[in-house]
Amino acid sequence: MKIENFAKHAGKARQALAAAPRWFQVRNTINEAFPSPFRTEGPDPLAVGMNQALALLNSLKPEPGGPAHIGPASMHPSYEHAPSVHLEQASLPLSEVVSKSAKLFEGMPHWNHPLTMPNVIPPANLAGIISAMMTQVFSPNIIEGEYSWNVENSELESAAMLSHLIGWPNPSNLDAVEGSAPGGLYTFGGSGCYFYAMKYALTRVLGKESRSKGIRADAKILVSYQGHYAKDISSDWTGLGMDNVVQIRTDPVTNAMDLKHLEEVMRTFNEAQVPIAAIVCTMGTTDAFAVDDVKAVRELVGKYPNPAPYGKTFIYCDAVIGWSWLTFGTYDFKANPLGFTPTVLAQVQKNYEAVKNLKEADAVGCDFHKVGWSPYNCSIIVMKDFTEFQTLMRRGESAYLQARTQYNPGLYTLEVSRTGAYSMAGWATLKFLGREGFQSILGGVLEVQEALREMLAEHPELVCVNDADTGFVTLFRVYPQGVNAQQQYARELTDPKALAELKAHNALQEKVADKIWDWFRDGKQHGGAYAPYISYTSGFRPTDYNPDMAIDGAVIYGLKAFPMNLNVDLETMQTLIKLVLTARDEVAKEPKNGVPKKRVERRAALTRGTVEDLLSGVTRRTHQG
Ligand SMILES: *Cc1c(COP(=O)(O)O)cnc(C)c1O
Repeated sequence: MKIENFAKHAGKARQALAAAPRWFQVRNTINEAFPSPFRTEGPDPLAVGMNQALALLNSLKPEPGGPAHIGPASMHPSYEHAPSVHLEQASLPLSEVVSKSAKLFEGMPHWNHPLTMPNVIPPANLAGIISAMMTQVFSPNIIEGEYSWNVENSELESAAMLSHLIGWPNPSNLDAVEGSAPGGLYTFGGSGCYFYAMKYALTRVLGKESRSKGIRADAKILVSYQGHYAKDISSDWTGLGMDNVVQIRTDPVTNAMDLKHLEEVMRTFNEAQVPIAAIVCTMGTTDAFAVDDVKAVRELVGKYPNPAPYGKTFIYCDAVIGWSWLTFGTYDFKANPLGFTPTVLAQVQKNYEAVKNLKEADAVGCDFHKVGWSPYNCSIIVMKDFTEFQTLMRRGESAYLQARTQYNPGLYTLEVSRTGAYSMAGWATLKFLGREGFQSILGGVLEVQEALREMLAEHPELVCVNDADTGFVTLFRVYPQGVNAQQQYARELTDPKALAELKAHNALQEKVADKIWDWFRDGKQHGGAYAPYISYTSGFRPTDYNPDMAIDGAVIYGLKAFPMNLNVDLETMQTLIKLVLTARDEVAKEPKNGVPKKRVERRAALTRGTVEDLLSGVTRRTHQG
C-alpha cells in the first residue's frame, strides 16, 4: 500500500506528507522497503529487489569457461579498513545496499565451478536455496509451533525421513516403541550436533541434577584420534574439560577406531569405577572417510556398563560426512539400476555397508551442508529416543511463551530463536533429490573421481596415495621428471633411509600446491588452462616406520582433490593433471630456497593423552575423590 501524498497517521495528526515531521517522512520511505502486508497488484517490491540482487550475483560469475572464482580475478580480500567503519547518519536506498552487498562476494571461491574441489564444500541446490530464502519473508521461528505453524513440519518430517533411513522405529507407531520415539533437531552445524549429543550424554550419565549442580565428575568421552576436533569444542564448552576426552588409537590401514585399544580403555575405566559419558563413532572422517564400527562399540557398552549410580554410556555417531550413503539402503546392488561402473558400484556398496549400522547409535549427526548439497547452516541431530532427550533437557515453561501447539522444541533446545531456514533447506533438499537423486550424486562423484584415479595410475610421475579410500578425496603426489612415482613413493613410505628424499618431495608437493593456488588466484591461464582450485595435506599419514609420529617430518604430504560439485567432470580432471605437471616444471626452474617452511603437524598435536598418562590421571583423580 503506497502512501503518495498524504500521511496516514503522522503520529496523532493526519497531514500532508510534505508537512509531516521528518521522522515520519524517513520512516515512510523505509517502510516501502519492507515486504508489503497485502498482496500486491503490480510487481512485488521484494521480487524486484531480489531480481536486482540475483542479476548482480549472476554478473559476478565468470563467463563460460572462465576462472574458478566469483568476480574480478586477481583481487584479494582486505580487512584492514573494517575497524574504522561507523554507522552513517543517513539511510541508503535499497538498491544501493543491494549493490554494496553483492560487492562483498567479489573474489570468493566459486563452489559450483567445474574447477573447484578443495574440500567438503558443496554448492547448494535450488530447492534448498529457495526454501531457505522463503523463510526470510515470513520469519518462522521454529522455537515453537505458534511462531512457525506448519513450518515446524519441515523439522519433524526431516527427522522422520532420517530416522526411517537410519532404521529406527516408525514415529507413527508410537505404541509399539513404548513411550519412546525418535526425533531430531536442526542446529548450527556438525559441531552443534556434537555439542547437543555431549550435553545429552552428560545429562543421561551424570543425572539431571548435573544441569543445576554442575558437572562434578570426570566422566570420559572416548573418540578416535581421527575424530573431528569438535570433540574438544564440546568438552570445553560443556565445562566437562578437554582433558576428559580420551583418544583411541586407529588402525593404520583403515583409520578406524582400534577396538582392542577401545576395550582396554573401557575395561580400565570400568575397574577404576570411572563413568564413560559417551563414545563417539566417526562415521566418515573428513578426508579418509574412515568409519568406526558402531555395532562393536554397542556390544562393548553392554559388556562394560557404567558403575552405579551413573546412567548408560551414550553412543554418538558423528555421521556428518557419511549419513547420506544411507540412501543406498534400498539399492539393488545386483541389478545396479543406476548403471554404476563395477569399481564404483563396489565402492558405493562398501560405503553403504560402513554406515548401515548407524541404528546402533543413540544419536546421529547429519550435515546437509556437506553431503546434502544444501546452503549453510543446515545440520540435524537425529535421536533414537527423543522422548528421553525431551524429558532430560526440559526447562520450566516461560512466562511469555505458551504451549499453544503440540510441538514446542524451545522448551529443551540450546537455541532460543531458531531459524526456519535450516529446517526448510534440509527438508526441501530431501524432497527435491529423493533417494535416487542422492544416489546419483554420490555415485556420480565417485565415477568422476575414478576417472582421476585412472589417469594418475597411467602417469609414471604421479601416484595416488589413498587408493583404498572410497570417500570423495583423492590424495596424490607428483614427482620430478623421469622419477618413477610408484617406486619412489613405496620407498619413501617404508624405508627410513629415504627420509631425506621424502622430505624433499614433501616440499615439492607444497610448492606445487602453492603454485597452483597462485595461478588459481591470478585468474590467468597457465599452460593454456585456468588453474583448478584444489588443496593439499601436510600430514595425510605417517610413514610405516613412524607410527607414533616420533620422527620429525616422516609424514606423507599430498595434493588433494575433493570434487563435490556436479560440474566437475573428466575434462576438469585432465586440466588438473596438466596443471600439476606444468606447476611442477615451473617450480623446478625456480632457485632452490633452502629448507621448506615448517608446518605444524596436525597429528603431532593429537598425541596427548596416551593410555598411560590417562590412567595415571584417572587414578590420581579417583584417589583425590
Ligand atoms: C565438518 C565436520 C564436523 C563439524 O561440522 P560443521 O558442520 O562444520 O560444524 C564434525 N565432524 C566431522 C567428521 C566433520 O567433517
